[in-house]
Amino acid sequence: PVVTRFAPSPTGYLHIGGARTALFNLLFARHHGGKFLLRIEDTDRARSTEPAIAAILDGMRWLGLDWDGEEVYQATRAARHAEVAHAMLANGHAYKCFATSEELETMRAEQRANKQPLRYDGRWRDRDASEAPEGAPFVLRLKAPREGSVTIQDQVQGAVTVNNSELDDMVLLRSDGTPTYMLAVVVDDHDMGVTHVIRGDDHLNNAFRQLPIYRAMGWDEPIYAHIPLIFNPDGTKMSKRKNAVAVDDYRDQLGLLPEAVSNYLLRLGWGHGDDEIIGREQAIEWFDLAGVGKSPSRFDLKKLENLNGHYIRASDDVRLAELVAARLPFEISESQSTLLVAAMPSLKPRAANLNEIADGAMFLFRTRPLELDEGARALLEGDAPALLFRIHVALDAARSWDTEALEAAVRTVADDAGVKLGAVAQPLRAALVGRRTSPGIFDVLALLGREESLARIADQMT
Ligand code: GLU
Repeated sequence: PVVTRFAPSPTGYLHIGGARTALFNLLFARHHGGKFLLRIEDTDRARSTEPAIAAILDGMRWLGLDWDGEEVYQATRAARHAEVAHAMLANGHAYKCFATSEELETMRAEQRANKQPLRYDGRWRDRDASEAPEGAPFVLRLKAPREGSVTIQDQVQGAVTVNNSELDDMVLLRSDGTPTYMLAVVVDDHDMGVTHVIRGDDHLNNAFRQLPIYRAMGWDEPIYAHIPLIFNPDGTKMSKRKNAVAVDDYRDQLGLLPEAVSNYLLRLGWGHGDDEIIGREQAIEWFDLAGVGKSPSRFDLKKLENLNGHYIRASDDVRLAELVAARLPFEISESQSTLLVAAMPSLKPRAANLNEIADGAMFLFRTRPLELDEGARALLEGDAPALLFRIHVALDAARSWDTEALEAAVRTVADDAGVKLGAVAQPLRAALVGRRTSPGIFDVLALLGREESLARIADQMT
């Protein structure tokens, strides 16, 4: 059975690239009817605060990246990691290194001076622990193969080969008994039964350091898939300065829907023909590693917002109204919530994000006399008050307050004045909304209702 995992190190937020990695792992597992696990790599105690971990879980839940079972906390497994390091010592695949840090510093200084790669030279590889001073501290190092090469059949990168001469005997267990990252990852992946390691290609080099640990322990090796990272539109590495990188910013600041972000992340680096709109069920059915591209993808907020607009229009109005209400700078009453739901069909069509809907909905909740922006004020100068007076009379006489009757009434005013409908609609909109833009004017009238509409118009008649 397929088992995948997402293994974030807490940084205080869920990185958008990490979210995509998690999504690919989830889809791959679900596609194969397997499991998708979550491991929090919290060995850096300073960074792994409770809020930093909560931010990751929260971002994953928001995106519907539901992991199976309880998440695993790497730091709790240190004793098990040490146990494996000692098992490797016992079976001859690891050895004690008593080199002091000063000694290693001198070694590296020489390598630097000779323009050699900085590598541990294996000075304790063939020495006996009895040669070390009594009670001297030591680390456990991997006795890495020195001859030959290792080839990984990466599911995305293809065959990648590294000569063993390029790898040194890395530390597995530090002198204080704590495991290194390389050891912890392998032990955890093995113990969690992970069959496929799907992660960013910044970890490809690590795979060549991790494989020898599997081999030393006689464990089944995972299948690797290293996916290209996400770049800014200009091809530079995705950074905070050019794009939001935290998933909660996509939710809180940009006002995007999780299904849109998820769909966008899927399409970023994976393709299924020209299909753009791919829901979760469909994604599970279609997802495969063969569809993951080899070149880095470029993040395009415009495309994401286009997708978001699609999902906004596809979304249920009650849900949207709730999301929008939460973004308003004030609380709304129950009747106002009902009004907001009713306004959704007129607010949705052009909105790219929830901020735009919230902004567009503000007219519903403004109090009289309306504060006018500059554009609206300009539209209400000159003949406008007189025109509004005629509109007021016509609307007041409308037989009912539905868009059809309202439109008929306003058209009559325009015809009588010998102007186009737009010439009447503009000052009317300014009076009703306080701005130059709004949803369709008859929708605005219908939503505000007879009393409020007439009062707002009357406010601008003098
Ligand atoms: N904890 C690592 C990271 O956040 C990922 C390790 C892995 O996927 O093997 O970059």
